[in-house]
Amino acid sequence: MTAIISYRTNTQKIPLGFKRVLSPEILKDICVRITGQTDYVIEEQTDSYNKGRLLTVQYNGITNYVSLSETKIDGRNSSLQSVPTALNVFYSDSNPNKQLWYYFLPYTGNPFTEYHLVYYRLMETAGIKFLNINNYYSLPILPYGSVDELIKERSDNQSSNRSNNSSFVSKTADRIQLYAKTYGANKYESTVFGVALSKIADRPIDVFAVSEQDLTNLPASSLRTFDTLGNLSVYTTSLKLNRTISEGDESLRLRSAAYNYNLLNRIGMKKCAICGCEIPEIIQGAHIWGVSEIRNFESINDEQKYAHAISGHNGIWLCQNHHKLFDSAFLAFDIEGRCLVRRGIPHEHEEFIQGSIVNNHLSTSILSDDFKFYLSQRNQEIDLHSYIAV
Ligand SMILES: [Zn+2]
Repeated sequence: MTAIISYRTNTQKIPLGFKRVLSPEILKDICVRITGQTDYVIEEQTDSYNKGRLLTVQYNGITNYVSLSETKIDGRNSSLQSVPTALNVFYSDSNPNKQLWYYFLPYTGNPFTEYHLVYYRLMETAGIKFLNINNYYSLPILPYGSVDELIKERSDNQSSNRSNNSSFVSKTADRIQLYAKTYGANKYESTVFGVALSKIADRPIDVFAVSEQDLTNLPASSLRTFDTLGNLSVYTTSLKLNRTISEGDESLRLRSAAYNYNLLNRIGMKKCAICGCEIPEIIQGAHIWGVSEIRNFESINDEQKYAHAISGHNGIWLCQNHHKLFDSAFLAFDIEGRCLVRRGIPHEHEEFIQGSIVNNHLSTSILSDDFKFYLSQRNQEIDLHSYIAV
């Protein structure tokens, strides 16, 4: 049987750009790796430019989509920008007999940085198979086995790379959250996260499209892909838009999403600031200046109230126990970030609380000027003299 290899020859910028890259040796190699034989014909299309650096190999009733790497790997993201597009094109094909592959063209640069390797694992998890990675990289690229594993590795990868964050994954007891930026260079990255998560999720996924200025949503092609997957719901929220701070489920859901996103962005992945617990289901964003106090504060308008309520400086991660102890005033922090326990409570309770504290001081990176402002607002409500340091 003869394979049919078809592709659009033009790139967005260079007419016949792909024709130049795809030598007979490369086409033969792709054909053999997919079909196990060398017989193919080529169909070239010139009607539009190539989106997703894709070619297809039709063989034995199966449409094989092949996403081709860049030939020059420079920026961290630029060499992978076509992958989400390839995923979207793949998912827009309703034919169930299909497979998506990734093929490394001969390249210059380094496509095996820490970031790339995490991304390749995501691609594997999303169902993209590597055709020839073994030519260039000796270790196996394994898909994530669970959302926890993905969160853990993402966390390790991001802590050394904080400024480049774009998407965050988190979870609660009954839902998984994907915080997806809708702006900047990485706005398509969340597509790969969404597809990967949908394959390993054991509970429904909420995708929060986080826009910086305006209510821009995720790209339409990504929304269609998410729609196809079935276990994702997309919500649009805003970091800066004037929103009321009213109660009510929808308002609270979007406000919490923006707040959690800002906390993730500022202080990193969920980890109790007091005991170090990292079980995401029981870690919560704990407001320093509480939302009801903000709501009742009289000299600022709604827009300013909303900004305070979602500020990444106005919070820390706490486990449910420490959150409750903090909000019930058993625990407090002084302006230096020292952890304090209330005096005069039953001795055994004080002992229990003391014993549960692993970090008796907030890390200095948390103690921004804004954070200290929120802490001073909170501490106006209590008498710090009735507390003792841990
Ligand atoms: Zn804790």
